[in-house]
Amino acid sequence: MSDRLSVSFRFDAGETASELECLPFGVHHDDEGVCLLIRMGPHRILLDCGLADISTLVNRFQKSAPRGSSPLPADFVLVSHAHPDHARGLLALHKAFPLLPIYASEVTSKLLSLNWQEQAPQEVPSFCQALPLRSPVEFKDGLVAEIIPAGHLPGAVAILLTYTTKERSYRLLYTGDFFLSNSRLVEGLRLEELRGIELDVLIIEGSYGTSRHPHRRTQENQLAERINRAIAERCSVLLPTPTLGLGQELLMLLRSHHHFTGRDLDIWVDRSVAVGCDAYLELLSHLPPSVQNFARHQPLFWDERIRPRVRRMQPQQIPDLSSPCIILTDSTADLSEYCQKGTGYWLTLVPEKTNIKIHDQYSRLMTVETYLLAQHSDGPGTTKLIHNLRPQHVIFVHGSPTYLADLTSLEELQNRYHLHSPAAGTLVELPIGETFLQPAAPETNYEGELTELGTVVTITLPDAITADPRWRHFADTGLIEARWQGEDLVLRGLSQRELLNQNSDRFTWSDLECCGTCRHQRGQRCWNPASPLYNFKVTLEGYCPAFERNIEKSPES
Ligand SMILES: [Zn+2]
Ligand SMILES: [Zn+2]
Repeated sequence: MSDRLSVSFRFDAGETASELECLPFGVHHDDEGVCLLIRMGPHRILLDCGLADISTLVNRFQKSAPRGSSPLPADFVLVSHAHPDHARGLLALHKAFPLLPIYASEVTSKLLSLNWQEQAPQEVPSFCQALPLRSPVEFKDGLVAEIIPAGHLPGAVAILLTYTTKERSYRLLYTGDFFLSNSRLVEGLRLEELRGIELDVLIIEGSYGTSRHPHRRTQENQLAERINRAIAERCSVLLPTPTLGLGQELLMLLRSHHHFTGRDLDIWVDRSVAVGCDAYLELLSHLPPSVQNFARHQPLFWDERIRPRVRRMQPQQIPDLSSPCIILTDSTADLSEYCQKGTGYWLTLVPEKTNIKIHDQYSRLMTVETYLLAQHSDGPGTTKLIHNLRPQHVIFVHGSPTYLADLTSLEELQNRYHLHSPAAGTLVELPIGETFLQPAAPETNYEGELTELGTVVTITLPDAITADPRWRHFADTGLIEARWQGEDLVLRGLSQRELLNQNSDRFTWSDLECCGTCRHQRGQRCWNPASPLYNFKVTLEGYCPAFERNIEKSPES
């Protein structure tokens, strides 16, 4: 590992021209965690320490410290959130540099110790100081830090650093892991809290690259649907998850989704996921009002009274589970412990695009499938945040190198910002142009008007859109497709070619209202005189207000 940091480190050399620099010790391209050293003028700030092995960090500073001077690697440390890829190196860091101050949000400061559950409590001192949300704190002369809730996980924050000289101010924002949508147990990052900041540097995560995700509720419904089907087929479901975040989200989903409420079913929670639930219970007052309200009427997690029952698993219970059941456990647990002889069929569901991998040996014991329940912003969310902040420099971290390369090759970003995707050990210099003009955000947003009248929704669009040459193709067939992308509803014109394409597989339909499930559609033609599509050839995913559900089985997608 240590030879990866071969680039000369000039923070203390006093000869660099720019006031701002970023030296990454970890960028989480794979599973190594995030750890970034920022220099702003004379100040050095360490953002996160998710390194499993901090020896590169320690060696560099202990060796390079001039005699008699403080060997601290930074003036202080700010932690974005409690997930291991951002925090697991902190305890070792604290032990190596006991005088190094470490700060995080109040919730994060309380969740951090879950990263060292295998260590004796006396080995894990509380070394982290809590910072208030949304309150600028002056840490050093001219250096102010502010933390802003970032969605993703309770306590997760984006970190805004402002360094002010006589001439000007320099602003850097580190998103940590962020999510624009609300999840069940944490509200999303609110863009309006960040608008108007004159930002110079944005360090942003790119976990999902440029990929687009369906609306969060769709993701939830698809997952609930799959679990429901498994239980109906008397198949138990195993959900390996991290200690914090996804597991608790899944529990809330299972407790409140109509497929499961009132159902005579046991949901077992095992190992550190259960400890994570206990930690959430201690933080109830920091959770969204809807969750606090829920918890006034019934326990948030442990509940044997209300169905489905949510119970903590004891080690001796595994052999006599009543089947089918649902089990949430650590992603590192030995899954074969659960699927013992005589316990029926098992389905293991693994979250997509995470570091949770299921060992091949298990595929003999159970069916393994994946699902998406995103905890990070998708590609459109990432670019949306960047365009809202309009920084001079964007540094991408936290994501596979290919995903990050997808982002850095986006023209809409290349044309406007200096993009960086450094490897660990590569110093990023961040010269800030004095006469730099804030790049204009892409001019793709126009305002229209929406009128709802009975079952008909009319969208009135401005001339700027209908005068565009692309409009003719868009409106060509008179049919549009609407689709959720994150929180946005995306409209797309269907082309003639698509209308004729009979084998479109962009949807799974069974419960969509569309020509494919309408009783008036036969042989891809509309036979309903009341429909504007009457007598026309239709695409199966088309829709008109005269839709009537086909009571027979809907066509397979
Ligand atoms: Zn995270
Ligand atoms: Zn992360």
